[in-house]
Amino acid sequence: TNGKFRSLLVGVYRGDHFVYVGRVGTGYGAKKVETLLPKLKALETAKSPFTGVGAPKKEAEVTWLKPELVAEIEFAGWTADGIVRQAAFKGLREDKPAKEVKAERPAKPGQTDVPQPAAQVKAGPARRKNAKAEVMGVLISNPDKPLWPDASDGGPVTKEELARYYEAVGSWLIEHIKGRPCSVIRAPDGIGGEQFFQRHAMPGTSNLLELVKVFGDKKPYLQIDRVEGLAAVAQIGAVELHPWNCEPHQPEVPGRLVFDLDPGPDVPFSAVVSAAREMRDRLDALGLISFCKTTGGKGLHVVTPLANNKRKPLSWAEAKSFAHDVCQQMARDNPDLYLIKMTKSLRNGRIFLDYLRNDRMATAVAPLSPRARPGATVSMPLTWNQVKSDLDPKRFTIRTVPALLAKSPAWEAYCDGQRPLEQAIKRLAKARVAA
Ligand code: ATP
Ligand code: MN
Repeated sequence: TNGKFRSLLVGVYRGDHFVYVGRVGTGYGAKKVETLLPKLKALETAKSPFTGVGAPKKEAEVTWLKPELVAEIEFAGWTADGIVRQAAFKGLREDKPAKEVKAERPAKPGQTDVPQPAAQVKAGPARRKNAKAEVMGVLISNPDKPLWPDASDGGPVTKEELARYYEAVGSWLIEHIKGRPCSVIRAPDGIGGEQFFQRHAMPGTSNLLELVKVFGDKKPYLQIDRVEGLAAVAQIGAVELHPWNCEPHQPEVPGRLVFDLDPGPDVPFSAVVSAAREMRDRLDALGLISFCKTTGGKGLHVVTPLANNKRKPLSWAEAKSFAHDVCQQMARDNPDLYLIKMTKSLRNGRIFLDYLRNDRMATAVAPLSPRARPGATVSMPLTWNQVKSDLDPKRFTIRTVPALLAKSPAWEAYCDGQRPLEQAIKRLAKARVAA
């Protein structure tokens, strides 16, 4: 303005949007400004380049630029909404195209970008009671607010502890949700208060979250692609994560099957354990490799990673019909133990084999997601060795899981375990003809 330069408004690409991430007000030495200004002038434009929620309004002293220059910014962290804090201009980067600029982790001396192995939840630095906490560079408001009254050990789980839990297990968890639309269950006043199942982005959605458009819905879906995004969802009280089961970045292509074993009342948990093992053996006979997790609730999930045929992608209709057929076969072979009808009243003493997680818009709770249930339980990935009659899902809580996960080889072979469903479909058809 008036030839005087004060600050830069900066943004990053998020999907198709160029989103505002804040104002960079320091770091402009006279020398730097001298070389910077002509480059800025050349890119002046009448229209704001920012799109999406949270874009700043035009003010008199603002000059818009085409978003073509890449700046290196040093900053202390993120606000809850994903705006940079204490940002300083370091210089222009000529080596990186603007389109490739995504938000990075804040720079801290000695910090590396290598994901840390899951470990004990780190205690935050000492702070005044109810002053904001900072987790993965994200500010957490009301950090001492209890979200679970009791983590099965007499003590509550606070909002800050939820964020630190996500930090501890984040590098493991993120692989199973990134690239997929992910609904969250929010309990801003704790699990005893009102809960919201949220699929879509909304005004004020943090810049650390991705927005994805899916066919048939104008409103973009939430997606979490980076571990800091987990701190951002903790900040809004997201106590459960429910991703789609598609291939990453391909909502129309099934990426895994989830068999949800739901025991009716009066079914001992050891029967659910046997059902999971039987499901594994049936899938194994069809050439599929499966992994088991607790749900943090009543049942177990058996998850089968699928290999993606790039030339002829699998459809959701095929995946759902296969999952149905496997469950139907299992229920026919043992009608006293299993059923595939939704009807709750028929479930007494039996296990409902729910194949309906295997559809385009269907979700299942993510491995390592906490649950909005008493005891702060977690959906814990298991080794098949752990799937025994003495398995106790209540052991796995926000408090206990980080240390248990660090020592566990559970799901190590998940990526190598991807198998094409096409062959399994053929084998199942043959087996039915033979029977
Ligand atoms: P359990 O072992 O206790 O059955 P679960 O995770 O299998 O645990 P639910 O919490 O009952 O079972 O969830 C069933 C499915 O419905 C989940 O896969 C979840 O993604 C989805 N879901 C949960 N809440 C909602 C909701 N409010 N709206 C739409 N889908 C939901
Ligand atoms: Mn279930």
